[in-house]
Amino acid sequence: MKRNRRIKILATLGPASDTEEMIEKLNIAGADAFRINMSHTSHKKLNELYTAIRNVETKTGHPIGILVDLQGPKLRVDTFADDKVELKKGQTFQLDGNPEPGDATRVYLPHPEILSSVEAGHKLLLDDGRIILEATKVENNIITTKVMNNCVISNRKGVSLPDTLLPVTAMTPKDDADLEAALKLDIDFIALSFVQRASDVDDVQSIVGDKAKVIAKIEKPAAVEAIEEIIISSDGIMVARGDLGVELPIQQLPGIQKLITRASRTAGKPVIVATQMLESMIESPMPTRAEVSDVATAVYEGADAVMLSAESAAGAYPVEAVTMMSNIAHEAENDPLYADIIYAHQTEADSTSADAISAAVYAVAETLSLAAIVCYTESGATAARVSRERPKNRILTLTPSKATARNLSLTWGVYSVPVETFDNENDMINHACETAYQHDLVKFGDHVVITAGIPYGRPGTTNMLRIAAIGKNGKCAD
Ligand code: PEP
Repeated sequence: MKRNRRIKILATLGPASDTEEMIEKLNIAGADAFRINMSHTSHKKLNELYTAIRNVETKTGHPIGILVDLQGPKLRVDTFADDKVELKKGQTFQLDGNPEPGDATRVYLPHPEILSSVEAGHKLLLDDGRIILEATKVENNIITTKVMNNCVISNRKGVSLPDTLLPVTAMTPKDDADLEAALKLDIDFIALSFVQRASDVDDVQSIVGDKAKVIAKIEKPAAVEAIEEIIISSDGIMVARGDLGVELPIQQLPGIQKLITRASRTAGKPVIVATQMLESMIESPMPTRAEVSDVATAVYEGADAVMLSAESAAGAYPVEAVTMMSNIAHEAENDPLYADIIYAHQTEADSTSADAISAAVYAVAETLSLAAIVCYTESGATAARVSRERPKNRILTLTPSKATARNLSLTWGVYSVPVETFDNENDMINHACETAYQHDLVKFGDHVVITAGIPYGRPGTTNMLRIAAIGKNGKCAD
C-alpha cells in the first residue's frame, strides 16, 4: 500500500480488530504490518488471523508483514488464600518455594531459578511497578523483603526483577509451542520477549532459520547494556517501553529510546518504538497532546516503525488510532525541521559493495534531486542499506521474493512491488521506470537512480547503479 509517509505502522490485533473486515480497514487506514500477541492468542486464533491477513493482502495486492510476538518468561507469584492481601510500608514479606496459598506474610513464587538468583539489595517490582519490595535476605530458597509502599497484592501478579540477571533463556515451553505453530505458517517476524543477552536471540535464530526475521524486544536493563551485541544477533529491535518502564526508572525511557533507535539505525536494522503511543485512544477518539508529541518524537528520531498495542487490539477506536498515527507521521515528516533533525545522525558505510553502492545511490539521488531510488533486491539487504541512509527520495523495491517484500514492511521508507526475474539489464531498467511510473512515484521528465546485482537473481551481488529518465507513458527515455 503506497503511503504518504516513510515510517511504518505496526498494529496489534485483538478482540477489537480480529476480523478480516477490520484488518482490511486498518490496512487501508495505514497499518503496514500486524502484530499477533501470543500472550492473548490461541493457536486456533493465530491460524484464523493469519488467513484473514493473507486474504486482505491478496485483495489489495500489496505485501503485509505479520509479526508473532512470543510471551517470554513472564514471572508471576501464585495465589493467596483470600485472593488478595494488604501490605504496609516497612513490613516484612517473603517469597518462597512453598506451594501453599499465601497470606499477608508470604506467597509462593513458582520459579525456583529466581529464588536462587536474587541477592540482598535487589528490587522486586510487582503488578507493573505498583508494588515495590526490596530483598533483605535470601536463604534456603526464601527471599525475605521489606515492603517499600502501602499496597494490595493479589493472585498471580507479574514480578519484574530489574537488578537480577536471570538464569533463564527468553523461551519457555509455551514459547516453544507457539513458535512451532507460528513457523508452520508463512509469517514474517518472530518477536522475542525479555531478551537479556545476544545468545537468547542466537538460540531462536537457530530454530527459525530463514523462515522468519527475529526481532528482539528490549525490555530488560541487561538487554540495554548488551544492546550492541543483541542488535548484531537480531534482524530488528523493538523498544518495548511497557516492561522497560517497569524494569528501569521510568524517566530513563526517553534517553534509552534514543540510544536504541540510534544504535539500530547505525546498524541498518529496523527499529520499532512500541507501547502507549496513543494510549488514551483506547477510550477516546482524540489522543492527548503529549501522545501526539510522543509519536512525532519517534518519527523525528528516524525510527523505522511505530506500534499500536491495546489502541488497535482492544480499544474503542482502532481505525481512528491508525489514521491518527499516520497523520502525525505525515505532518512530522513534512516539517521543514525534520530533515535537519533526522540528518543530524549520519551513518558510516561498511566496507562492502552493498554499502558502497548504497552510499553512492544516496549521493546521486541527493545531488541530482532525483524523484526515486529503485532497488532490485533478492534478500532485501540492499534495500535495508539504502533505507539506512534515510534518503529524501522515494525508495521503490522490486523483488521476486514475496517473503522479502513482506520483510520490508517494517523498514523505513521502502515501498515494495513484486516482480518477475529478468535476463538482461535493459529489461530491468525499463521495468524499473515503468513500475515507478505506474505506482505514481514519478512522472514524465523525472529521473530515477536504479541499483541491482548483475547477473540478476543472485543474492549479495549488488554492483550496478544507473540513472534513467522517465519518458512518455513511463517508458525509459534513454
Ligand atoms: C512492552 O512491554 O512494551 C511490549 C511491547 O510487550 P508486551 O505487550 O508483550 O508486554
